[in-house]
Amino acid sequence: MPPSVVAAASRPGPVPAAAAIPVVGRLAGVEDLQRTVLVRCSGRDRPGITTGLLGVLADSGAELFDMEQVVVRDRLTLDLAIGVDDGDQVLKELLFHGWEQGLQLDFEVVEADTARPVGARSVVTVIGQVLPPAALRDVTGAIATSGANIDRIVRLSRYPVVSYEFVTLGGDIDRMRAELVAAAKSHAVDVAVQRESLERRAKRLVVMDVDSTLIQDEVIELLAREAGCGEEVERITTRAMAGELDFEASLRERTALLAGLSDGVLDRVADKVRLTPGARTFVRTLKRLGYTVAIVSGGFTHITDRLAADLGIDHAAANRLEVVDGVLTGRLLGEVIDRPGKARMLREIAAAEHIPLEQTVAVGDGANDLDMLATAGLGIAFNAKPVVREAADTAVSVPFLDAILFLLGIRREDIEQADADDPAVADLGFVPAPGTPPA
Ligand SMILES: [Mg+2]
Repeated sequence: MPPSVVAAASRPGPVPAAAAIPVVGRLAGVEDLQRTVLVRCSGRDRPGITTGLLGVLADSGAELFDMEQVVVRDRLTLDLAIGVDDGDQVLKELLFHGWEQGLQLDFEVVEADTARPVGARSVVTVIGQVLPPAALRDVTGAIATSGANIDRIVRLSRYPVVSYEFVTLGGDIDRMRAELVAAAKSHAVDVAVQRESLERRAKRLVVMDVDSTLIQDEVIELLAREAGCGEEVERITTRAMAGELDFEASLRERTALLAGLSDGVLDRVADKVRLTPGARTFVRTLKRLGYTVAIVSGGFTHITDRLAADLGIDHAAANRLEVVDGVLTGRLLGEVIDRPGKARMLREIAAAEHIPLEQTVAVGDGANDLDMLATAGLGIAFNAKPVVREAADTAVSVPFLDAILFLLGIRREDIEQADADDPAVADLGFVPAPGTPPA
């Protein structure tokens, strides 16, 4: 006989009579046998519900095997798996307690052991401007097709993007990833799959690209515009993208066009740089969590040093423009940071901080970030060119840098609470992110 719901009670109404609790009668027919009963309590959340129920269990000496709780829109669902001995009055007492407290209580006799598959745990994160049921149906359908079960669903954020985390059990992770990529594409949402492991929770270093990642601009283009050679720089950029020039050659050619400019141009450009939305929140939250944060740029130190000082970033690496008597020579000093150079910097910073590469995250948008993204434990393509998006572990295509926090399993509410508790942030005046509903 399948386990069934055997009793329920909630106020208002008469106190349920003992005779209305068939589980007691049924259990009474089985001698010397302990049953496992799942007690599901639901109702409007308020302080003391869990204490009250556990108090009943404590007073009756019942065994507690398992306990989980969720709260959605102030409605609580609390599940308790308890051992009920023959003739035990605990269910009646729970029922009476529920009636007194205005809580709905359901009882179900369940198996003593879980029949859940044991297998690897994965975490599927879904992020979208909106996530309608059809998108979530196809995401969860992809999980099911891979043979995995969903163990837990957590809503991470409601704005400026909607995001959920699904913890899954078992299944074929490669198949899940392939199916999820298709679902994500058809609904224009971001989906990431990560093995749930200690490493996932122990990320300690984030290394970011700068142009079109931490900031919305491409610094070389701002400089070229200031220098009045925007068109020439664009022509070189086009040739580089067509594969006629490698990154270093194109950088040197573009930099040469800046020769003769006063170094004051660097300050003017630094003033014009616009941070990507969510950049401050992203860095501030990572720092609170104890992360080391670094920026690695194919651009110039003058800009990255200012960004690092402004945001409290720990390491900044970029190309150094030669300045003689306050004038740019159009030449670069030292080793050029190009595509392999960015990956090298990631390795060097990780080594200096004694952080294993598995515990690093790299974020970037361009082809010259590909090596760095591949080197990191988690490579994230941020509003990236298609070639980068396909190669990276995961992609974020909403225009908010702090959406990356959701991939790390951090909830929006916790980020905001930390800001609200921080006098340094409160003094700045909390600026709601775009799309924030009125408080
Ligand atoms: Mg970039």
